[in-house]
Amino acid sequence: MPDSWTSVSKRLARRIGPKSYRDWFEPTKLRSLTESELHVEVPNSLFREWMERHYTGTLEEVVAEVLGSPRRISFVLPGEGVEPSEAREVPQPEAFAELGDDVAPEMPKLDERYTFETFVVGSCNQFAHAAARAVADAPGKSYNPLYLYGGVGLGKTHLMQAIGRALMSRRSPRGDYLRMAYISAERFMCEMINAIRWKRQHDFRVRYRNIDCLLVDDIQFLEGKEATQEEFFHTFRSLYEDRKQIVLTSDCAPREIATLEERLRSRFECGLIADLQAPDLETKLAILRRKAEMENAVLPDDVALFIASRVRTNIRELEGCLNRIEALASLRGRDPDLELAKEATRGIFPDDSKPVTVEAIQRYVAHYYNVTVSELKAKNNARAVSFPRQVAMYLAKKMTKSSYPEIGKRFGGKHHSTVIHSVNKISAEASKSDEFNVLLNRFMDEIH
Ligand code: ADP
Ligand code: MG
Repeated sequence: MPDSWTSVSKRLARRIGPKSYRDWFEPTKLRSLTESELHVEVPNSLFREWMERHYTGTLEEVVAEVLGSPRRISFVLPGEGVEPSEAREVPQPEAFAELGDDVAPEMPKLDERYTFETFVVGSCNQFAHAAARAVADAPGKSYNPLYLYGGVGLGKTHLMQAIGRALMSRRSPRGDYLRMAYISAERFMCEMINAIRWKRQHDFRVRYRNIDCLLVDDIQFLEGKEATQEEFFHTFRSLYEDRKQIVLTSDCAPREIATLEERLRSRFECGLIADLQAPDLETKLAILRRKAEMENAVLPDDVALFIASRVRTNIRELEGCLNRIEALASLRGRDPDLELAKEATRGIFPDDSKPVTVEAIQRYVAHYYNVTVSELKAKNNARAVSFPRQVAMYLAKKMTKSSYPEIGKRFGGKHHSTVIHSVNKISAEASKSDEFNVLLNRFMDEIH
């Protein structure tokens, strides 16, 4: 059994990556393993919450793969008793296996492709780009904090890292290079928890409060994480008071992050908030051309147009699509053409035979009513947002196989009764107004 336990650990590390493994599984212990259950001891309840949310499924899968049959996974706290049904347990009180050298290095690194030079500016991102430039030119002096937000794949991380890279070559008034930390909010939290666990809070604080510039990616992750928010607040305040630059990104505006502590919200809002919009066709084409150029790849106009018009907003998808087409073209030993582009992207774009997704509905409805998808998912009940949300929920019920609770979940975790209410309300409106009914039908025709 210890061997199989080592196998579980190794496989798990491979599955989730050495960084996550180190952060989350290394501080855990196997408490007990029976024929039906597996108890893993975790250091504290915050830790447990995280593990339950993020790793139960993966751990279950890996355990089933290695042991040949599934176990029910529980995370227990030190000193917490395990049910008496574990009398027949096969105890293996052994820490998760050491991973050796492939365990993650310290700070996350910047991606060298993410620079201002490679960032294509269009009307959708002009403002955010200008703000990022200003911060890179005069850190701590122009906009502090700079808060960049927008949907997935719209270039938030790219811009933030471009700032980081630009700052890396600058020297502080003391004459040495600027000290910079780039970190995701998620990692900030796990480092903090580990610091508490290992009683290294002091080191943690020193580390994040003695820098010249702090870049924190995906701050929406702090939603509902009160202890992390608290710690982050102190880090933030300390840096801010020392006039150090802070840059934050998020998938939504500060006011939309439910349970964001008021102190933090008002701090975020006192700097500059810039949003990244979905790219228009021209920007998408320009990004594709720039990327093809950088890779010395041939990209005929009709292929570029095909990709740009099929990929709606996500620039990462745009790039993925181009990569696949280029890969297939080289496999075939020819330059890409429209026919090949269609083949390379088959099954990627939703076509008529593929079921509609709740996400596609949200994107369409958000675009039509000129709100953001995150607004649709937020808790804001202003009519400008709540009406489109109800329409989107109605369409989700009509056009997909999702249940009410599932739909609620996709809308930022709303209760299923909210979804039922929305569907009924929109049905009632549709039966009252022909015009509205026609509009709903048009939506159903156009969403795919
Ligand atoms: P986000 O953090 O907003 O989810 P990313 O910054 O990771 O998005 O961007 C996704 C991908 O799209 C990255 O590979 C990035 O380089 C690229 N990208 C986004 N915006 C642009 C742009 N304006 N010009 C060039 N590439 C872009
Ligand atoms: Mg990002």
